[in-house]
Order: sequence, then structure tokens, then C-alpha cells
Amino acid sequence: MSNKTYNIAAIPGDGIGIEITEAATKVLNALALSVGRFDFAFTSFDWSSKTYNERGYYIPPGGIDKLKGYDAIYFGAVGWPDVPDHISLWGLMLPLRNSLCQYVNVRPTRILNGTSSPLSACKRGDLDWVIIRENSEGEYAGHGGETHTHFGSAVATDVSIYTQSGIERVMHFAFETARSRPKKKLTMVTKSNAQRHGMVLWDRIFHEIRKEYPDVDADTMLVDAMTVRMVLQPTSLDTIVATNLHGDILSDLAAALSGSIGTAPSSNLDPTRKNPSMFEPIHGSAPNIAGKGIANPVGAFWSAVEMVAWIGEKDASVRLMKAIENVTGRGVKTADIGGSASTNEVTEAVCAELEQLC
Ligand code: ATP
Ligand code: MG
Repeated sequence: MSNKTYNIAAIPGDGIGIEITEAATKVLNALALSVGRFDFAFTSFDWSSKTYNERGYYIPPGGIDKLKGYDAIYFGAVGWPDVPDHISLWGLMLPLRNSLCQYVNVRPTRILNGTSSPLSACKRGDLDWVIIRENSEGEYAGHGGETHTHFGSAVATDVSIYTQSGIERVMHFAFETARSRPKKKLTMVTKSNAQRHGMVLWDRIFHEIRKEYPDVDADTMLVDAMTVRMVLQPTSLDTIVATNLHGDILSDLAAALSGSIGTAPSSNLDPTRKNPSMFEPIHGSAPNIAGKGIANPVGAFWSAVEMVAWIGEKDASVRLMKAIENVTGRGVKTADIGGSASTNEVTEAVCAELEQLC
């Protein structure tokens, strides 16, 4: 019987995005070889800040439609110092998430084998969270503008947009995620004391929907107090749901508390499965280390794990995660998590580990 082929659109983007996408592609091919039941066919899309500078756009006309035919999208990172960050984000990443209805961003965090938290009291197993970030509206709705001047001073607004349906769908996803995990615990984060419209709507919908999940231990936090709780009481948290901006900030903090931003994965999901979902490490293009061969590929590999699980190869995803943690556990690590290995050395070690795992 011939192998099943999964078609993956790869968008390496900029900086270390290119390096870690190459590494993830190698590891995914090694996984397929070691499992033997399926293959990956990668198509690379060169949509980057370099091509933006040459052509004036990131995504060519018809580009999004082309992606719709793939089983999943693997994304590296976008952004380079010669393009303002808000242009690159709105030129590539946000249109992809929005056009492909990827309304949930899932960001798991835990302390991996062989790595440690900067919090000395926090041991492996103490910090094990999933942050569910609303991925389609809120503070990233893109509305507003520099409208007029007031007493000679420029006035600009960024309008956050929250819709009942947008909040309900991410809230249901968060409760389902919490229910599927051993602790069955959900913390919802807002700033509803100061932001008295959209955040209050989040509160109201949370209290409505929690009635459907009596088995989930649910509570609410204000985002400022939440940063303190993440640092001082990490074991009191499990699944976390937050708005687009709050989820972005809290997941960078979560990644740092688990060891490094270089190890953290993310999944941009269309839970209806009408469109392909997109998988990417949470870090950016890191121009300061680009081209040096020292980027940590673990966040990229873990994102690949999430992708493999999402397309339906659960056992294979567990195998890949095991290979990654066996390698970090042996001390084959990049400098950001206390090792001295290069991106390539970690990649080769994970590929070799996949071959050996029974
Ligand atoms: P973005 O706006 O896309 O989130 P950012 O401005 O938050 O990007 P990053 O590129 O994510 O910045 O990284 C911040 C810093 O963290 C980098 O400059 C780099 O030093 C470090 N870093 C990020 N990713 C990695 C990685 N994979 N391996 C090692 N160090 C990393
Ligand atoms: Mg960032």
C-alpha cells in the first residue's frame, strides 16, 4: 500500500524564520521516514520582507487561495529592520490568520526535559500551561487611524473590536481545551475594571458559557495581576484564555518563564477545518542572531509536533515530541537554553533520535 502524502505549504519568511523552517522540514521528513506510513510534500512560498522590498507586497494576488489547497501551513517568522514592523505584520501574518479564519491561537508552555525555568523554585512539571489567544479581533482589529490634530498635536486611535460570536467561539474552544486536560482548570484574563465595554462583554460571555462546563474549575483574572500570578504561583494555572493582545504578551512571558522564547510553539487554528491551520514558533525573526546558525529550533520542532497532531497523526506527534525531549534531556541544546550546540547539531540529533526510537 502506498503512503499517504500530506501537502504542506511552507512560508519561511525572514531571518531565523528561514533557518528554523529548514530545520523543521528536515525533522518532519525524518519523522515520516521513521514512521513509514506517510510522507510530507513541502511547497515553499517565498513571501518575505526581501520580496516585499522588491515587489511592494508580501502576498501576491491569489496567494491566499493557493494556500487553501494544503493540509497545513508551516510558518517561520516575518519582520526585518528595513520594513516597519506594523507593515510586515499587516502584510503577511495577520492577513493569513484573518483570511483563513484561524480564530484560535494555541500556545502550550512547559519546562522541557533538560531545560529549566529562570524561577529557581519552579521545577519541571510545575509550569504546564496552554494559553488560548483570541486570534481574529480585539486589539488587532486594525480599525482606527491618525485622524486629526488637536491643538497642533496629532491624534491617533486604535479601536478594539469585540463581537459576541467572536468571543463565544474562542471561549468554547478554551473550555473544551481545559476539559481535555487533567486539571480541568480555566483562567480567563481581561482588563474589565478599566476597559468597560469589550472586556465586560468578555466577562459576561464567560459567565454564561461556564454554566455548560460545570466540571471545569474556572476563574477570572485582570491581566496585570495575572503577570504576578504567573511568576509567583505557576502551579495554580493550567488553561488560560485571553484577548489577542493580552494573549500575545502573556505567552511571551510564559515562554520566558519556561526557559526561552526559542522553545515555544503556536498553532493558528480554524477549528471548523474549512481552511488549513498554520503552525509557527512564537518567536520572531530575531535579526540579531540571524545567519549565525545558533537559533533554537525547538519551538519550530514543537510547532511541527502540533501540526502533525492536528492533521491526524497523533502517534507520530508523540514520537516527535519524545525525540525532541530526549535530545534536550541529553544536553544537546542551543545557547539560549544553556547549551552550546548549533541549530544544525540539534536538528541532526533529533533526526538521529527519530531513527532510533522504537
Ligand atoms: P515579534 O514581533 O515577531 O514577536 P520580537 O520583536 O518579539 O518579534 P523575537 O524575534 O521574537 O522578537 O526575539 C526577541 C529576542 O529573543 C531575539 O532578538 C533573540 O535574541 C531571542 N530569540 C528569539 N527567538 C530565538 C530562538 N529561536 N533562538 C534563540 N534566541 C531567540
Ligand atoms: Mg513578540
